[in-house]
Amino acid sequence: MPIATVNPATGETLKTFDELTPDGIERCLAAADAAFRRYRTTGFAERARLLESAADLLERDQEDIARTMTTEMGKPITAARAEVAKCVKAMRWYAAHAERLLADEHPADADVQDAGAARARVHYRPLGPVLAVMPWNFPLWQVVRFAAPALMAGNVGLLKHASNVPQTALYLEELFRRAGYPEGVFQTLLIGYRAVEGVLRDGRVAAATLTGSEPAGRSVASIAGDEVKKTVLELGGSDPYVVMPSADVEKAAAVAVTARTQNNGQSCIAAKRFIVHTDVYDVFEERFTAGMAALAVGDPMDESTDVGPLASEAGRDGLAELVEDALRQGATVLCGGRRPEGREERGWFYEPTVLTGITPAMRIHQEETFGPVATLYRVADLDEAVKVANDTYFGLSSNVWTRDEADVQRFVRDLEAGGVYINGMTASHPALPFGGVKRSGYGRELSGHGIREFCNATTVWQA
Ligand code: NAP
Repeated sequence: MPIATVNPATGETLKTFDELTPDGIERCLAAADAAFRRYRTTGFAERARLLESAADLLERDQEDIARTMTTEMGKPITAARAEVAKCVKAMRWYAAHAERLLADEHPADADVQDAGAARARVHYRPLGPVLAVMPWNFPLWQVVRFAAPALMAGNVGLLKHASNVPQTALYLEELFRRAGYPEGVFQTLLIGYRAVEGVLRDGRVAAATLTGSEPAGRSVASIAGDEVKKTVLELGGSDPYVVMPSADVEKAAAVAVTARTQNNGQSCIAAKRFIVHTDVYDVFEERFTAGMAALAVGDPMDESTDVGPLASEAGRDGLAELVEDALRQGATVLCGGRRPEGREERGWFYEPTVLTGITPAMRIHQEETFGPVATLYRVADLDEAVKVANDTYFGLSSNVWTRDEADVQRFVRDLEAGGVYINGMTASHPALPFGGVKRSGYGRELSGHGIREFCNATTVWQA
């Protein structure tokens, strides 16, 4: 894919960018290496001052960068503004809490005496330059979610952003520079995915984090494994959304519409498979389908738009193929299932879609639907709900609607996912760990878990 801004609402190429040359990459790596040697010795107060300064600037830039994101990847402008606000909040949270999260740990003296130590502690040190390979779907948030903790820990960042969001990527580099970070502490590498291997194998790069698809994660993890470098992977998801008889079904159906279609349905933690107990299935199906059909699909710059275009033509076509495969094998469309009328020619739009009659043979049963397409399953009881929910390669998050505490205990015990959200939709928060199991990846972002991923937990033993 060329590095370019292509407006998904029109298909028009607005700006193209040259990839960094090998010499350019070398200069960035050298700058990162040199920056790390100095930056690692800064204190938390200085790092917090810089991050607060970046947060202030980002807050002021909200409208401009929101419009850039919407232009580059098509999210509704209202969602783009919310993404900026979320980034500001996460930056301030890490500026305020990093020192506490990385405070030395002191095991009880009695516990370490038989190790021969009079005193012992665990001290968190940064690892070095970390390569961040990031996706376009939350082009600001995914990067800030990595950068805020990484920089507070004393690491430096090298961003390889998705090729369709170069202006957002360059904005981020500029933001950290304007905030006063020393040269080389945060750099954007305008490179295609083929150049990732060389950067990752470079001895000056200490570790990597990737948010994106499973194939990309597998490739980065293999190379990093070969180099024995630490990685964190945040990959795809096909989150279940379970509705049990005791649930507030009206609310569950209303939230389900948002949970499925936020960010034009292109969110790893979007609820994708709706698993509904037979006692409340009919009413849920009716309310959910009505809610999906009522969404306004259109120009993402329009304040009243609920669902904009998909970010790329390939993404829209891939989604349509999943739906067509299901229909060929007997699934039923309750709404959508096609491109919206009047928008066949321009832009990569797809109608909010609800499908039922899903069988395991259909691709859509296993593959991630990265767009506004929901699958509905009717289940007889809690055991079947758990079984269907876990019948996926993915394990990112999960949602359960119930007012029965025994149900809660069972789902928390048995759902194979990195999160269980009860009576609400999955949303990330700086204070809570975020990540998955199974093919959704490994490692955690956010919270204390996230900031410690790229730290050397150093044992200090003193006789
Ligand atoms: P993608 O193709 O994997 O792209 C993500 C990033 O990886 C881009 O920067 C891309 O660069 C790069 N990349 C692609 N192939 C690579 C390779 N072989 N080696 C190294 N880097 C490579 O993902 P996408 O389709 O744009 O994004 C959607 C996916 O991301 C979905 O599966 C979604 O669930 C997942 N996601 C997960 C999370 C999470 O937190 N778990 C969050 C958001 C999205 P180019 O753009 O240059 O190809």
